[in-house]
Amino acid sequence: MIDYRSKTPAELEVLMESWGEAAFRARQFFKWLWKPGFSGITEITELPKALRARLAIEGLVYDLKVQEVITSLLDGTVKWAFRLSDGAIIETVLIPSNSHTTLCISSQVGCGMGCRFCRTGTMGFERNLVPSEIAGQVLAVLEQTERERWPRNIVFMGMGEPLANFENVVSAVRILTHELGLNFSKRRITVSTCGLAPQIVRLGKETEVGLAISLHATTDELRDKIMPVNRRYPLGELMEACRRYRLPRRRRITFEYIIFRGLNHSQQDALRLSHLLRGIPSKINLIAYNQVQGLGFDAPRHEDVAQFQRYLLNIGFTAVVRKSRGRDINAACGQLWARALGRGDEERVNPG
Ligand code: SF4
Repeated sequence: MIDYRSKTPAELEVLMESWGEAAFRARQFFKWLWKPGFSGITEITELPKALRARLAIEGLVYDLKVQEVITSLLDGTVKWAFRLSDGAIIETVLIPSNSHTTLCISSQVGCGMGCRFCRTGTMGFERNLVPSEIAGQVLAVLEQTERERWPRNIVFMGMGEPLANFENVVSAVRILTHELGLNFSKRRITVSTCGLAPQIVRLGKETEVGLAISLHATTDELRDKIMPVNRRYPLGELMEACRRYRLPRRRRITFEYIIFRGLNHSQQDALRLSHLLRGIPSKINLIAYNQVQGLGFDAPRHEDVAQFQRYLLNIGFTAVVRKSRGRDINAACGQLWARALGRGDEERVNPG
């Protein structure tokens, strides 16, 4: 069966032409596929009856099933667990703020990158999501959210390493940003990676989305220990890829930096960071680690975070301390997955 929602408009055109149909039929079909509330192929009366019948026989319109949805009483963050057709669970988090709402989506089931501080990393990799499962998270959330709370920004910071599922993530971006579909601005989509250097350069060439790097260390020695990806692509190579990334105009690369107590928040770390990021338009998000039992890292004290931020500000960086959102509903990667599978683990996990 053809998964229609995994196809970009260009791919639907190829399909229609292979069936002897005009290319504009693909555009009509695509527009309906991504309309919030779309209920089925029979609804598309602008397509000829025979074409509707063939579409219904040869393929399917894939919908995500809601397994669980929880809203934070503290800050209105909403978290969905979606059950996929093979029973796998993924999570999607809607994060409201005063000025805009952001949607955090998943790109894989589990993750194979093995970051030592991350619960998803301990789950291992199960499979890549296809474009209908990636972009479908956005559609499902729009369908279940009042219009005034619809997200303006999309971040690939949920479960999985997006650049390890490169082709499907790029297709999902093309689907999400197409003017006939959900029409998100490329400037409002950010792909976050733990540091797959070659794919970073490719991403910049093939899309114009924002880029976030999960950095978390300023030496190869420490990064090798906490993020195995660094042994493949050490800091020098990662920074070179960032320099080559084709950023949208007036955009900066976001560097996510989790602070672990006693590990990575000294004045020397701040100085090393300034050397590493030289020549890269950047901003730094500081995140206090939330302790996860059994992983061997400690949460920093409030003053450690404030001090490290001061070091960075004095050097001239834009460095903000990111507030933890949805703490009462464990709105961070891997957590909902664990609950939905009945693992009953109540600790919060840090975002990748
Ligand atoms: S931090 Fe991100 S890349 Fe690393 S294991 Fe977790 S989900 Fe994967």
